Amino acid sequence: MDALVRLKTLSEQMSFETDEERCFVAGRPFGLGRKPDLSSRLLASEGPYLDRTDNCPDSVFVHPAVLPNGQHIKLLKTLLSSVCERDCYYCPFRAGRDFRRATFQPEEFARLFFMLTRKGLTEGLFLSSGVAGGGVRSQDKLIDTADILRHKLGFHGYIHLKVMPGAERAQVERAMQLADRVSVNLEAPNTERLLRLAPHKQFIEELLQPLKWMDEIRRSQPASRGWNGRWPSSVTQFVAGGAGESDLELLTATSYLYHRLGLKRAYYSRFNPIPGTPLENQAPTPPIREHRLYQASFLLRDYGFDLEELPFGTDGSLPVQSDPKLAWAQQNLKDQPIEINRADRHMLLRIPGIGPKGADIILQARRQASIRDVTSLRKLGVLAEKAAPFLLLDGRRAAIQPVLF
Ligand code: SF4
Repeated sequence: MDALVRLKTLSEQMSFETDEERCFVAGRPFGLGRKPDLSSRLLASEGPYLDRTDNCPDSVFVHPAVLPNGQHIKLLKTLLSSVCERDCYYCPFRAGRDFRRATFQPEEFARLFFMLTRKGLTEGLFLSSGVAGGGVRSQDKLIDTADILRHKLGFHGYIHLKVMPGAERAQVERAMQLADRVSVNLEAPNTERLLRLAPHKQFIEELLQPLKWMDEIRRSQPASRGWNGRWPSSVTQFVAGGAGESDLELLTATSYLYHRLGLKRAYYSRFNPIPGTPLENQAPTPPIREHRLYQASFLLRDYGFDLEELPFGTDGSLPVQSDPKLAWAQQNLKDQPIEINRADRHMLLRIPGIGPKGADIILQARRQASIRDVTSLRKLGVLAEKAAPFLLLDGRRAAIQPVLF
């Protein structure tokens, strides 16, 4: 198969992976909008991959991604190989499933990616792989690819490397010396739930352990050993709703990862049945569940909420009709509103409509003068209508006037 066709095949197959941070094109989540069509530009250029135009792909799957530092880049999200010897129940790449598979060797892939980068078509790489010949061998290929890019071709841009189930500690450390971000997909929140998704993966030994190593390495070794003098951040992804797990189980695992293993972010990819897999007849998870999980995980990570404070129902589910912070405020602040001119940052973050940036702006503004009305709150960027029922302005309930313009 032609290299560009293989790249298109592999990057399309990777579309189930969640992007770095939320990606938007003209205000819409990417995937609802256009995909950049690169083929016409590639056809107009020269290169060893373009000598056959009859089967050139329509587009290469490059995502507009936002990095944790706010930088917008064109991210190529792809697999090195879609061949896999494992049989995870939910996965389109599971062994024995009938579809067109493709593989790159490290050097070949690195040169292709570097060529796309030199043409300005890609700026960063998110690289994963199926498991073939064991996790250690597959991890070696990912590491070799990153190594060639960094040290042979001089690529200094963003790299996110997946860590394969069964990778060794030395490989995790090497990946951390090459990448800006590393990740292990836990898929399920605990051993019992993983059995229902991937019975031949070992939750503790193969998946959780590498995340522990990442944390240990960051804590015990100088950052100068990492790429560009920094250790990469670590992230994970769960298949939300695939194993019959509750929101409470997912967020218990998330809380542990944030607070004990220094995880930068947990992603939730809602379960969608794939034809030709053992779970093909299982109902998909509604998008709202994924959305509520993200909201709750940000409360744990950025708003100082404890797991026990989240408004779970008796079955461990988050409320669907209301965002979890609003649900918490309705239970806890309705009769005890927070005085906005005296509250500390922790309490300001409890008020719906006030996020970390808003809380900092309020603290700063208060040094100049009291905040006395809703108009002043709006000027500070607070979602005043949302916040008003739960706060006091110098001892008075906030009076909300409808916004006319
Ligand atoms: S190991 Fe990864 S690629 Fe292979 S079947 Fe499982 S989830 Fe899919």
